[in-house]
Amino acid sequence: MKKFILSLPVALTLVGVFLMSCVTQEPHIASGSYGSTMSVKRGALPQNTAMWLKNSSQVTWLPRQVSGRVDGATALDNIRQAAAGQAVKRSSYGTAPGGYVKLDPRMLRAMKILVQEGYRIRVTSMAGASHSRTSRHYAGLAFDVDFINGVKVGYSNPYWRKFLARCRELGATETLGPGDKGHSSHVHAAWPRVVPLR
Ligand SMILES: [Zn+2]
Repeated sequence: MKKFILSLPVALTLVGVFLMSCVTQEPHIASGSYGSTMSVKRGALPQNTAMWLKNSSQVTWLPRQVSGRVDGATALDNIRQAAAGQAVKRSSYGTAPGGYVKLDPRMLRAMKILVQEGYRIRVTSMAGASHSRTSRHYAGLAFDVDFINGVKVGYSNPYWRKFLARCRELGATETLGPGDKGHSSHVHAAWPRVVPLR
């Protein structure tokens, strides 16, 4: 009996640790880590895909934030960082959390396919800039585009609907554009947060 009483605090501590580990999983996923997760198909390394995209003449990378800032976390900075095999920098203004995150390989692969299929795009944001508080941009899962095939995104742009539909076919689960709040002049495509297998 004495032995049981002594071990009770230990048991409670173990239960507490277990519950804590459940609760703290989501922030790990939100931080955009993908290295230890499931079912990312084998193929080109994300770094190589980023390099390919960076060097593509069909893609322009905005060298400043849409807000005008130059903070080392622009679309151009981010693709250069990813092409160098590095985590990419997030902004530190507005709701942006600062720090670094890996760009998601599913998103990079989809962007490459879109370009291979003929799209010419200007990318205005990857992990940088300030977005909504829980934005997938901060997890390296989203990109923004404001020119498609040389035409500024807006209601009358003839390309943006098909472009977003193709993003969804390629795995995007959040696509926004003209008609959606805050997206009258750019489109947004984001890939799902990955749930690790245990
Ligand atoms: Zn966006």
